Amino acid sequence: MDKSPVIINDKPMIGISACCMGCPVRYNARSYDMLKHIGREKGDFRWVPVCPECLAGLGVMRDPIHIAGENGTAVWQGTAKVKSRGGRDVTDQMIAGAKAAEDNLKRAGVKAFVYMDGSPSCGVYRTTLRKQSRGRPPGVFGSLLDQGGYFLIPALDLQSPVKWWDWRRRLLAYLWLQDVLLSSRKDVYDVWYRLKFICQEIDDHWARQNGRMLANLDKQAGTEVFEQFRRETANLLRKPSTTPKIKGSLLKNYAHYRKKTGQTVPDIQAPDARRNVTSMARELMIMERASAEAGYFVGTAPVLYSGKLPKQAEKKIDLIEKAAKRDQLNAADSDPEDHVVL
Ligand code: SF4
Repeated sequence: MDKSPVIINDKPMIGISACCMGCPVRYNARSYDMLKHIGREKGDFRWVPVCPECLAGLGVMRDPIHIAGENGTAVWQGTAKVKSRGGRDVTDQMIAGAKAAEDNLKRAGVKAFVYMDGSPSCGVYRTTLRKQSRGRPPGVFGSLLDQGGYFLIPALDLQSPVKWWDWRRRLLAYLWLQDVLLSSRKDVYDVWYRLKFICQEIDDHWARQNGRMLANLDKQAGTEVFEQFRRETANLLRKPSTTPKIKGSLLKNYAHYRKKTGQTVPDIQAPDARRNVTSMARELMIMERASAEAGYFVGTAPVLYSGKLPKQAEKKIDLIEKAAKRDQLNAADSDPEDHVVL
């Protein structure tokens, strides 16, 4: 089994609520710069800002809008309306604006979106800011993105180094999974070998069930089963982990690294050291790099973006990938049953 990290070389595209990227498109012509919180990592992605309310033709500055009725999903179902503070019905405009915004994302090939929570348009889990009632979540555009299976990242989580680390590593795994070839049981087993640790961390019960299902996979299983595996695993990767679980994974992965390499990493602290979210995020990134340099993928962050790797690690991984391809060619006739799933 290939133990080198999966490397994404193309800069991942991410959609973003335009007001979170400093565009002054809010109803009061204000904005937020949420990307400042992730520092230089901002350059590791290609951003696609959209504002569904602007694309609705509501203009800046405008009356704030709210959902009159259940939520944004009900707006799509025709049982709720979108109204401006002055009482004007802007439902049709908002539907057109949300569709236009999604068209932009599709044209750019975007599969992930950083959304502004608290907005009746872009909000997913909140449509209320500062106790103003604006209907229940999700918002109109948030509902469209959620139904479309986009990888949805709340902009407010960019402020926490550990939460952002968690979103980023799951995003890279999610993007890789979208396009990876799944044409045989061997492909499915290879993918599961890489993703099972992160899946166990997010939802151990689901991961065990999935592992059992794969171990008993019928020899006749075909595209339908493989695609269901892709869909369900991708869906799990959309769910956040928790700080205690992430800390547990850091320690487990570090123990694994020490066992495999016989080396320690000076900047990774002892298990009982006091950590805050910033120091933990730093240790997680050091762990990723150290593992990549040693030629191992780290189970808790199995997919990396090449822009985040030191040159030395890239070269080493390149050599390992070439060797793995050679091995694959030599083992082309091997039985997929040889692969251990659980
Ligand atoms: S939350 Fe969405 S709709 Fe509202 S200003 Fe920001 S991008 Fe536009």
